[in-house]
Order: sequence, then structure tokens, then C-alpha cells
Amino acid sequence: MQRVLVLDKNKQPLMPCHPARARELLKKGRAAVFRRFPFTIILQDREGGEVQETQFKVDPGAKTTGIALVAQFQRGQRVIWAAELTHRGRKIKDNLLSRRQLRRGRRSRKTRYRPPRFDNRCRPAGWLPPSLQSRVDNILTWLVRLYRFAPITHLALELVRFDTQKLQNPEISGVEYQQGELLGYEVREYLLEKWGRKCAYCGAKNVPLEVEHIVPKIRGGSNRVSNLTLACTPCNQKKGSQTAAEFGFPNIQAQAKKPLGDAAAVNATRWTLWRELNASGLPLEVGTGGRTKYNRSRQGYPKTHWLDAVCVGESGENVFVPQTLQALAIKAMGRGSRQMCRVDKFGFPRTKAKQFKRVQGFQTGDIVKAIVPKGKNEGTHVGRVAVRASGSFNIRTNQETVQGIGYKYCQLTQRIDGYAYSFGSPVDSSPRINKLHRLPPHV
Ligand SMILES: [Zn+2]
Repeated sequence: MQRVLVLDKNKQPLMPCHPARARELLKKGRAAVFRRFPFTIILQDREGGEVQETQFKVDPGAKTTGIALVAQFQRGQRVIWAAELTHRGRKIKDNLLSRRQLRRGRRSRKTRYRPPRFDNRCRPAGWLPPSLQSRVDNILTWLVRLYRFAPITHLALELVRFDTQKLQNPEISGVEYQQGELLGYEVREYLLEKWGRKCAYCGAKNVPLEVEHIVPKIRGGSNRVSNLTLACTPCNQKKGSQTAAEFGFPNIQAQAKKPLGDAAAVNATRWTLWRELNASGLPLEVGTGGRTKYNRSRQGYPKTHWLDAVCVGESGENVFVPQTLQALAIKAMGRGSRQMCRVDKFGFPRTKAKQFKRVQGFQTGDIVKAIVPKGKNEGTHVGRVAVRASGSFNIRTNQETVQGIGYKYCQLTQRIDGYAYSFGSPVDSSPRINKLHRLPPHV
């Protein structure tokens, strides 16, 4: 189970507590529910309390970002809260493209051709495309949000895929670059980036790739990264003791000589995030993707985004993950649209302009609980509401979308906050951990 976030009576964050403890406090009336997602309670009588150092760890991804809160207890580090945040970068890109095309279409329909004016617009330094900026903003939103509900004292970010400093060590010995050693993971991440995550010879993707010597060792090839590439097992075996040129790929030998720039290892989004997190004033730890993988496989944790976040950086070496912990699935949804009404495929209004965003006190995106006493939709439905001006709403629950529920049956659970959450049932993307991991021994 996730721990429950706790506030004292002055809304200052306390140490998150076990759900059973939260239930007890709620039952006795000593606490009240402050927020449903993330579940937070507020204590009625308590003021202040002892808190442990807590790190907000993040593994940024293009589609999904892993977030974890790791607390430093006396017995060691322990995950107390985790989430997987799904971004809407693709959606933003599509929306902007469609808006642009419709505007262009409408304009050119009646206006004579005019050549583009001189390119006199400039973008501020550090500008990111809206789809990428939204990813940064999503993560910062959740840092600020969690900072209000949990005693966060430190930050950790996976900034780069691999460590170029480490790679410059030319003495990579035979075993080290293969498995086990941290350096090996850095080398693998470097090669994956350089060779586009596919077999250098046949281009096969999503198959196990082996580190391969372009000039084989038997022919005097070295272990330096400039002599390494990635190949699938069949290609590796077929190549045998030939060099890449003899095997029919002289271009690979040429490409291997070119080093990969620093820019390729860190993408623009991560740099922006790094700057923003630094600006928060909390101490920030950075790690590499190689280190994350190394920590995760050494502790035997499965590959999920939130467990990657747990394993970020040097501090991710030894973290206890409770067996039953499930990450909250958070999905960025936006806050509705400023478009007054939808358009048809020619860019013409399809309906009359909407007048209000709120209908009977509800807004699309609010989380509501509807208790319907009779009729087709009889029962209790909890989920994200989509309002209609008629007062007949749709509710998207975990399983289905229930259509045509009257506003009179709805109770507000939480106002729209730009995100959708997975309710109750297990999150598909974060499987349970099957193995019980022991706490690290006392030092
Ligand atoms: Zn291949």
C-alpha cells in the first residue's frame, strides 16, 4: 500500500502514515480527509512533529515519468509513496497542428496569396516546444503539490543516459563492460544511444543486443568504446572473426570512430528540468541512466518507471520497497479547452458557442461520486465527470463510461486539477513486486 500523506492542523506536512493508522485516526475523528488524490489527511489536534529526510526522486521519460518519495529512516531508506505520471505531449502537438491547419485553411479560402513576411519573431532563451514544455511543467506541478503534503528535503533527477567521464577510461577490461560492473552499464547505455537502440548490422529492434567488437579481439581489436557496437545474436555469430568491413559494413567502422557529443546524452527537456529543480533551492542529486539500471538490477526490481525513479543516483543503491506498494497512476489531461465550440472537418463551427464551463456547479474533469437510486444506471459511480449543458453528465469510472447521469445525483469529490487518476484497482503498468526485499542491515 501507498502511505497516506498527513498534514498537521496548520497544514504543515508530517511523515506519511500507514493506511491502517489513517483509518483509525479518521474513525476516531482525530483527522479529516484533506484531499482524495493523492490521498491526504489533516490532523485536527496535532501541531508539528518529527519528520525524517525525504527525497523526491524522478526519472523523466518521454511518455511516462516515474516519481518516488524515499524517506531516510534509521533502519535505511524506504519508499513511502510512488506514482507514474503520463504526459500529454503527443496530444498537445496534435492539437496545435490541427489548429494551425484549420486557421491556414480558413484564411487561404478567401484571401489572396501573400508571401510569408520576414522572419521577425524570436524565441526567448531556453524556449522549448509546447509539447516538451508540458512534460517539464507536469513534473514541476507534482513537485510543488507533493511538497505541500510531504516533508520533502532533497531532490534526485536522472539527468543523463551515461557518464562520459567514466567512458574516457580506456582500461575497460574484458568482464567489466559486459555485466555486473557499474561501468558496464554506462558503456551499454552509451552504445544504445549511439547506435539507435538497434542491431548495427540488420537493424533489428526490440531484440536482445550484445556488445560486439567491430575489429574482433582475436584480430587485435581493443575494448575501447570506439571499437564497440551492438548486434543481435544471429548477426554476432554470423560475423564471427571478421571485421565489420569484411562483413560488408565499412560505414560502421567509420561511424564508430566518431564520438557521441554530450548533447546526445542529455536532451533539452532534462536540462530545463535540471535548471528548474536547482532553482527550487533544495539539494539536488543527479544520476545517470546507466547507474539507475545498475541499481535496479542489483536489487532485483522489475522494470517500471516508478522503480527506476527509486533507483536514481547513488542514493538508489539500497532502497527498501514494501512488497505491496502500488504506484498511483496519474495522467495529464489538461484543463479543458478555450475553443468555444468544436469545428467540423472544414473548420466551421459544429454547434453554437458554449457559454459556461460550469454546469450546475460541476466542470468537466471534476471527480464526482454519483449515487443513482433507480433506472438504467442504478448504483454508485465514482469517476471523472464530463458535463453537458443539459445537466445530463457522463462519468468515466475505472472500468467504463456511464452515460446520462443527472447532476442531482452527483457529489463533488475533488475539483479538476488537470490530472486523471486510476482508482482503487491495481495499476497495470506497475506490477506487484513478487520477491520480498529485506531491509539493509544496521551499520
Ligand atoms: Zn542483427
